[in-house]
Amino acid sequence: MEQNNNAQVSKPEVNLNKKREDYLEWPDYFMAVAFLSAQRSKDPRTQVGACIVNSEKKIVGIGYNGMPNGCHDDEMPWGRVSDDILDSKKLFVCHAELNAVLNKNSADVKNCTIYVALFPCNECAKIVIQSGIKEVIYYSDKYKDVAEFKASKIMFDKAGIIYRQYKPSCDKIVIDFTKIDSYRSVDASTVDDLKDPTDTPTS
Ligand SMILES: [Zn+2]
Repeated sequence: MEQNNNAQVSKPEVNLNKKREDYLEWPDYFMAVAFLSAQRSKDPRTQVGACIVNSEKKIVGIGYNGMPNGCHDDEMPWGRVSDDILDSKKLFVCHAELNAVLNKNSADVKNCTIYVALFPCNECAKIVIQSGIKEVIYYSDKYKDVAEFKASKIMFDKAGIIYRQYKPSCDKIVIDFTKIDSYRSVDASTVDDLKDPTDTPTS
C-alpha cells in the first residue's frame, strides 16, 4: 500500500491571515441544522428536521420526526400504509415542527422563524400558527398538490404567516470531522493560536 508521509501535499489553498470567504451564511446554516437533526430520525422513508430561530439569530428549538416519548421505536409501526391504520405510522409520529416547538429552550417562539426540510402539513401548520412563529422557510414542497398541504397554505395566508422556499447556496455540505486536525499537521510551525493540548502552561 502506498504511504504518504509528506504533510505538505494536503496543504489547502487558503490564506491563513485573512477571514474565510467560504463560511456558511446564516440561512444555509439554519437549514443545514434542520437537515442534520433529520439524520436522527428512525423513519425509513422520510427524515425531516426543523430549526427554530429567533430575531437575534439564536436557535431556540430543534426537532425531527419521531415517535412520542415512551413509545419505543422498535415497538411502533414505521410503514406508511397498511390495511389497519393502527399498523402504520400515521397516527403516531410526531412531526419535526411539533418536536421543535415543544423542545424550545426559550419561554416561547413568538415571532420566530422555522427552517424546515419539508413544507409543513396541516397539523404542523396549526402548531406553527398557534405557537406564534411568523415565518416558515422550507426546502421542499413536494406534496404541494396534496390537500393537507394546500390547507396549510390557506391557514398561513389567513394568519399572515410568511412562507418561502429556500435552497441553500450549495447542494450539499460535507462535515469532515478530521479537518480540525489538518492545520496542525500542515502548518504547525506557524500556528500560534492553536496550542498543543499537552503543552504545559508557563505561567
Ligand atoms: Zn406535519
